[in-house]
Amino acid sequence: MRIYISSDIEGVAGVVHGEQGRPGNPEHERARRLMTAEVNAAIAGAVDAGATEILVNDSHGPMRNLLIEDLDSRARLISGKPKPVSMMEGLDAGFAGVFALGFHARAGSHGILAHTINGFAFARVTVNGRDFGESGLYGAYAGEVGVPVILFSGDDCLKAEVGPLFPGAEVVEVKRAIMNSCAESMTPKAAREAIRAAAGRAVGRVKEIKPLRVPPPIAVRVQLNSVALADLMSLLPGTERPVPEAVTFTAGSMRNVIRTLNCMSAMSFMLR
Ligand SMILES: [Zn+2]
Repeated sequence: MRIYISSDIEGVAGVVHGEQGRPGNPEHERARRLMTAEVNAAIAGAVDAGATEILVNDSHGPMRNLLIEDLDSRARLISGKPKPVSMMEGLDAGFAGVFALGFHARAGSHGILAHTINGFAFARVTVNGRDFGESGLYGAYAGEVGVPVILFSGDDCLKAEVGPLFPGAEVVEVKRAIMNSCAESMTPKAAREAIRAAAGRAVGRVKEIKPLRVPPPIAVRVQLNSVALADLMSLLPGTERPVPEAVTFTAGSMRNVIRTLNCMSAMSFMLR
């Protein structure tokens, strides 16, 4: 049985500040070790429950955070960017389930370091009129491939966000958000134990959990953080501009929703 792991950093136990996600400082060096250890705990739990093959995708920022030298040797690792499907690169229909580890709440909501794909650019993303964060966007992409997300880890706000979208998925709440950069967290050791146990339960119940499906046509609305950013995004063919600070587009697949949003994210660097 093959298990796919998408690994972000904001939802890791002990992470509360953006500096911990930015390379080039000691805080990031520490956070990436915590991130790697939570992934290893999930791999151990999955293998305990019968997984035979694990693919891990480094899904945060530069996508070169996980320390491959410390990663459980039963896994293989995708790192670096850009990559075609970003946080779900490498996922195919042969996987039984997805773990979304260290995930965070969507832009415009409470939660530790809450954002959607690009905190500088995107204020809010809706899919068919419903607020979607990275969990919903990438989880729906996994659903389109035919694979359910069976385990999430992150804060209490992530838990509240994924509950209605992913019924049946295991969710490990490793910290409680007090404000955007302030949490009450489990210790890394306690979080790893909880993640290992939940990973085992998730793999054990994998056949009961249904993939999230968003059937096309998929209407996406992207509210930007400034009118200047919306000016820029409106240059992309296929977009419309219903109001000054937002653009909309319609896609035939979640794969194309994700590709378009990641192109917009890359474009936003022009205005940074
Ligand atoms: Zn991240």
